[in-house]
Amino acid sequence: MELLLDRVTKQYSNKIVVDRITVGLKPGVIGLLGANGAGKTTLMRMICGILKPSSGSISFEGLDASDEMYRDALGYLPQDFGYYPNFTGMEFLMYMAALKGIDKKSAKSKCKGLLKIVNLEDSANKKIKTYSGGMKQRLGIAQAVLNDPKILILDEPTAGLDPKERVRFRNLIAELGKDAIVILSTHIVSDVEHIADRILMMKDGNIIFDGNGAEIHENLEELYLKEFGGTDDE
Ligand code: ADP
Repeated sequence: MELLLDRVTKQYSNKIVVDRITVGLKPGVIGLLGANGAGKTTLMRMICGILKPSSGSISFEGLDASDEMYRDALGYLPQDFGYYPNFTGMEFLMYMAALKGIDKKSAKSKCKGLLKIVNLEDSANKKIKTYSGGMKQRLGIAQAVLNDPKILILDEPTAGLDPKERVRFRNLIAELGKDAIVILSTHIVSDVEHIADRILMMKDGNIIFDGNGAEIHENLEELYLKEFGGTDDE
């Protein structure tokens, strides 16, 4: 099971935003790290098939990212995810399940199970407008994994979370990375240094660091500060 990016490039008029990225991604948590403007969102949107590369290809088990069957393997939590404030958590998940074509009967048990996993069981029948930022993000994760995705894309998922919520969220992501290729973008080193199996650092559309295991923890912060000069605002 591998997600393959082959010379993936995105160009807008004369600006290259993602520059010939070639990488193979296996199950586990992959931290995509880089300052604002590095090209993370553009890359993730291409991996999701929302945005077409200018050149190069993205494939998973022989399926191109533009293929409908590829999308079936995908879960996505975008940065600007829209919640419905007057829905309860359960109603929202049921609605998302219907959009994903999951039949009502299995959707109900699936949604209940997921609310438990993301620790929202007690708030399942409360309106989303009463949720904290962390609760909303956990609900966002729940909708992203409704279809048991093999590839899970999380764009800056910890933005706006307090430290306690952040820890809870990280644990959840680490758990999901046991079975799926989880790609988590962030500009905050501490979001990924402890849970990522692999770190890809992006700068100006290129991958400037690709490391895993112990080497991550040794010098990641240092490298990041050197490259981006203290943009880690946490
Ligand atoms: P990140 O997610 O790392 O902050 P983005 O992928 O959002 O980076 O943006 C990378 C660069 O591409 C930025 O300089 C941004 O201004 C530019 N960019 C993104 N989308 C477009 C677009 N639709 N048209 C032109 N430039 C874009």
